[in-house]
Amino acid sequence: MKHRFIILLLAGLAFQAQAVHAEHPMSVITTIFPLYDWARLVGGQHVVATLLLPPGVEAHGFAPRPTDIVRIHKAQIVIWAGPLMEPWATGLLTGSPQKGTTILDVSQGIESALLTETTQDQTGMGAHGNEHQPHASGHQDPHFWLDPVLAKTIVAQIGKTFSEIDPGNAGTYQTNAAAYIKTLQELDTTIRTTLARCRHSTILYGGHFAFGHFARRYGLRHVSPYRGFAPDAAPTPRAVADMIRQMKQLDMNVIYHEELVDPKVARIIAEETGARLLLLHGAHNLSRTEREQNLTYLDIMRQNLERLKDGLGYTP
Ligand SMILES: [Zn+2]
Repeated sequence: MKHRFIILLLAGLAFQAQAVHAEHPMSVITTIFPLYDWARLVGGQHVVATLLLPPGVEAHGFAPRPTDIVRIHKAQIVIWAGPLMEPWATGLLTGSPQKGTTILDVSQGIESALLTETTQDQTGMGAHGNEHQPHASGHQDPHFWLDPVLAKTIVAQIGKTFSEIDPGNAGTYQTNAAAYIKTLQELDTTIRTTLARCRHSTILYGGHFAFGHFARRYGLRHVSPYRGFAPDAAPTPRAVADMIRQMKQLDMNVIYHEELVDPKVARIIAEETGARLLLLHGAHNLSRTEREQNLTYLDIMRQNLERLKDGLGYTP
């Protein structure tokens, strides 16, 4: 019943969309938070960016309401994170494109960036030698935005798309994207130099592990009782026991938990081991309070780095 309603709704919108011309400012809808943050920064005054996820909502299993679908199809540009991260959007955003709506799947640019890196590594050109995980694992982890180097690829894609749709302001989009990419480069350098001064190189994570790309980039190991990268799977008692054993072996006293979810499993492990619980924010979405504080991706990543310094034994 619900499906029939959505199909009727889409048929009506496809008809309306033909009348859409280049608007000013451009209306941009994004799915997850980082895409929203970057769209508004790159677009500046020429873009009205909207984050589709309501505050506090879990991103992987999001179910759009009919009003969300209307908003998606009314937007001039839709930016999403791809079918691996957002299976709910696949039927909606792939296949025959809506007239008047440009859809940017940033995961496609990430795929080719990862492929280029793999090729470079195979020919001995890779810049990072201290890696514990094979590149292939990166293709199953949809949390590419947490790697500042891959984030640069996304920001460049956003700048390019805005410039193509609104060539009159391409200069502004390119300037904004370039300035932000420079900031991401600085963030990458800061993370590298900070982690190099940390005693430990293992992230103990009591939630669904969103930092696979981050860990790979900076040569970190990670331990989590959760299998895979989706937040809905429950860890087995054996996996929890195994994690507790590893924490004792490593003599580490901080366990990280994820945002927007009650950290039940992490809390049990913390109580069992006497470890402290710290948030390592995956930036999928913001809570209502964080939105009111106008938190940015850079704020989140800098806070994460402070907490990693705390948990991994940073020496100044
Ligand atoms: Zn996730």
